[in-house]
Amino acid sequence: MKMYIAGEWVGSDRSQSVINPFDGSIVDEVPLADASAIERALAAADRAALRLLNSTGAERQKIMERAGQLADERVEEIAQTISLELGKPIREARIEASRAGDLIRLAGFEGAQLYGQGLPLDAHPGAGKQRLGFTLREPCGVVVAITPFNFPLLLVLHKIAPALAAGNSVILKPASHTPLTALALTRVFLDAGLDPEAISCITGSGSTVGDRLCADERVRKITFTGSTGVGNHIARVAGAKKLSLELGASCPTVILDDADIERAAVAVASGGYANAGQVCISVQRAIVHEKIYADFLDALKPKVEALTLGNPLDVSTTLGPLVSESEAERVERSISESVRRGARLITGGERSGATVTPAIVADVDSSDALSQDELFGPAVAVTSVSSLEEALIAANSTTYGLGAGLFTENLSKGIKFLRGVNAGVLHMNWTPLWRADLMPYGGTKGSGIGKEGIRSAIAEMTEEKTIVLHGD
Ligand code: NAD
Repeated sequence: MKMYIAGEWVGSDRSQSVINPFDGSIVDEVPLADASAIERALAAADRAALRLLNSTGAERQKIMERAGQLADERVEEIAQTISLELGKPIREARIEASRAGDLIRLAGFEGAQLYGQGLPLDAHPGAGKQRLGFTLREPCGVVVAITPFNFPLLLVLHKIAPALAAGNSVILKPASHTPLTALALTRVFLDAGLDPEAISCITGSGSTVGDRLCADERVRKITFTGSTGVGNHIARVAGAKKLSLELGASCPTVILDDADIERAAVAVASGGYANAGQVCISVQRAIVHEKIYADFLDALKPKVEALTLGNPLDVSTTLGPLVSESEAERVERSISESVRRGARLITGGERSGATVTPAIVADVDSSDALSQDELFGPAVAVTSVSSLEEALIAANSTTYGLGAGLFTENLSKGIKFLRGVNAGVLHMNWTPLWRADLMPYGGTKGSGIGKEGIRSAIAEMTEEKTIVLHGD
C-alpha cells in the first residue's frame, strides 16, 4: 500500500512488511519515507494550514460529519485491518472501529465552536476606559501526530480528529507495526472532502523520520502517544513547540476488604487482559487487602483461565498474540524473572510464538520490576496490603501516573483514595481500563503532559490570541 504525502498516494525506493503477528504472514508492504517525502509533507501542511485559517467552523463540521458517516460505513473493513496487522481479537477490533464515527462527529461539533472569552479590562485601574478586550481561539497550524500500535484507529483519531476539526493541518506518523489502519483512516478524511494537503500519512521507522519532523520550525504542535523513552526524546528534539505527551504506565487497581469481590474479579479479568494487556490503562497491578486476598485470587483465576487464546479473526477469540514475537519474549521474561525473585505464578505465562497465556502473578512486592516497569502484556501482578494508607503508598510507588481504580463500598475511603492517588484518570468501583472519548484523559508524572479527550484536545490544538480594541 502507498503512503499519502502532500496530496498524492506515493511509494518509495524502500519498503517495509506489515506482519500478522498471529501467523507471521505478510499482510502488506508500505513505503519507508525518505527525507524528500518528509519535506514535501511539511511544505504541503504549511500551505494547507494557511488556507485553513480561512475555513469556517460550519465548513469544517460538514467535512467531519461526512467523515463520520464514511467511518461508520467502513467499520468492518477497518476492524479487519486492525485485527490483521495488530493481532487484536476481531470482537475488540469491531468495538474500536465502531467508536470512530461518533468520535469524528463529536470533534466536528466541538471544533466548530472555538470559544474565546471576554476580558474584564476595567478591573485593572485605568485600563478599561474606552477599551474592549477579548480572546480568539485559533488553530496552531501544522500539527505532527505520532501514534503507537495498540489502538491503531482510536489513538490516531484522538489526535487528528480534534486537530482537523479545529482547522489545523496534520502530518501523521503511525506506528511501524500498524500503518494500514492509519492509511485507511486518511482515506476516510480525503473521501469526506478534506483539503488534500491538510493531511499526510508518513510510513516508516520513527527513529528515522521522527527527529526531522519534530525539529522542523514549521511544526507548531506535536502530539505524541507512545513510550516514555521516546516521548522524552521528542521533548528534547522539539524545542519550544506546543507538546502533548501520552506516555507509559503501570496502572494500579486497589481492592479494599469491603469491596464486592466478584465485581472486582470480573473487572480485573477484562481490564488486565484486553488487547493482550497492550493498553496503557491496563490493570497491571492489583493491590488487594490481606483480608480478602485469597478470596480475590480464587475469584479471579477461573475468569482468567476462561479467556480464549486463538486466531484474532475468530469471533470466539478473547486473547490474541502480542504485536510481535520479541514483545512476547520480553513479557515472558518479565514474568519468569519476577517468579525467580519470589512471586507466585497462579496461572499462565507460557509463550508460543507471539502469544503468551494470560498470567496472574501473586505475592509481587510493590518494589519489584513487574510492578514498577510497564509490562504491556497479558499479566496482572497481585500485591497484598493491610490498610488503605498502605494501598495508597503502593499505588503511588511507580514513576507513572496515568490511571487508577478502587473497589470499595465505603465512600469516605473512596474519597480519601481519589484525593491521594497520583494519576490523571480515576475510577471508583471499576478498573482504569474504561474510557469515553469525550472525557479529559491524560497522565501525571512519567505518564505525560497535556490532556486528550475531544474538548481538551481541541484546547491543546489551538492558540489563544488576546485582542484589545482601543477607543479615544
Ligand atoms: P513507541 O514509543 O515505541 O512508538 C510510538 C510511536 O513513536 C511510533 O509511531 C514510533 O514509530 C514513533 N517513534 C519511535 N522512535 C521515535 C523517535 N525517535 N522520534 C519520533 N517518533 C518515534 O510506543 P509503542 O510501542 O508503539 O506503544 C506502546 C507505548 O505507548 C506504551 O509505553 C504505552 O503505555 C504507550 N501508550 C500510552 C497511551 C496513553 O494514553 N498514555 C496510550 C497508548 C499507548
